[in-house]
Amino acid sequence: MRFSTKAIHAGQPPDPSTGAIMVPVYQSSTFVQAEPGVDKGYPYSRTANPTRKALEDCVAALEGGAVGLALSSGMAAIDCVLRDLRSGDHVVAGEDLYGGTRRLFSQCYEKFGVQFSYVDTTDLEATAAAVRKETRIIWIETPSNPLMRITDLGAVAKIGRERGIRTVADNTFATPFLQRPLEKGFDVVVHSTTKYMGGHSDVIGGAIITADPKVGEDLAFYQNAVGGVPGPMDCFLLLRGLKTLALRMERHSFNGMEVAKFLQGHPKVDRVFYPGLDGDPGHDLAKRQMDGFGGIVSFIVKGGVEAARRCATGTRLFALAESLGGVESLLDHPATMTHTSVPPEERVRIGLEDGLIRLSVGVEEIEDLLEDLVGALEGV
Ligand SMILES: *Cc1c(COP(=O)(O)O)cnc(C)c1O
Repeated sequence: MRFSTKAIHAGQPPDPSTGAIMVPVYQSSTFVQAEPGVDKGYPYSRTANPTRKALEDCVAALEGGAVGLALSSGMAAIDCVLRDLRSGDHVVAGEDLYGGTRRLFSQCYEKFGVQFSYVDTTDLEATAAAVRKETRIIWIETPSNPLMRITDLGAVAKIGRERGIRTVADNTFATPFLQRPLEKGFDVVVHSTTKYMGGHSDVIGGAIITADPKVGEDLAFYQNAVGGVPGPMDCFLLLRGLKTLALRMERHSFNGMEVAKFLQGHPKVDRVFYPGLDGDPGHDLAKRQMDGFGGIVSFIVKGGVEAARRCATGTRLFALAESLGGVESLLDHPATMTHTSVPPEERVRIGLEDGLIRLSVGVEEIEDLLEDLVGALEGV
């Protein structure tokens, strides 16, 4: 099966008992056993639930993995992967990560003695140089958030493999439609399925996918032991969203490109960050490892924080909100919204300026979106 077909069918055969074409919402906490210890693969819904299993099999198929796990949020998925660490272990992480990931690292795991080094993972020498003998994980996002930097997946997978270090990619921004890190040699992929995978801004969810059944078994242990699992209704909504993932990503990528080109030519815009643009530092690499460039476009408005504030409050269609990846267009001001947990001096160091705006370009008509941006920038 090819991608769009998998999105609609993988893990979701018609219900054997009724013929229901949609996977039913198995809203049941427990399941009757034939004899003590003899169940149908579902002893208890924290451990396994049939609606969740359909979602897990579908995301595994889409990423080309052997095991998929659904968690109650992207953060729960990230936490689940970190559970394998012990005090004294070290993680090499990208410096331009989702703000909540960085908060989890620094405020929840450091106090248990796990150490983190942040590097620009687009710089392969710096990434390899940050590895210590205690390093257990290399953690990256590509494209990164919000600066849309592109990291070479194949090269980072090689750094990890040669040293016996697990490599983890947060594939939330790209989705498996645009990029499949496991195919490039990564060990684990995580997702906030809240974003593009769900795609309709109506559910919080997370997923983990791995090609290695042993790693999958270890992580399934933590999924069950810690218990951050999604309910069956959320799994149903995610399955429904996934069915149109390919259609949505094509349109997001088309609209993203048009918005990036418009902003690049605008006199009030200082810089645009979008890997689809010819002059973007990540363009060639993105062309090689991605099947499109997606719907996130960041840019710096001339005039600093005040100009950014005016632009952010001047749109009619782009809604001012955290999150991304839904069908509707959203606008975020990272310095005051999503990335406040990154200390100001660190924001300056990594180039996350106060005038930076991040757009999640939705699937509306492109003419309406461009008109909205024309109006917002006129007010700056
Ligand atoms: C939103 C997001 C997360 C966190 O996911 P939640 O579903 O909000 O818990 C992690 N990584 C990235 C890249 C995200 O955009």
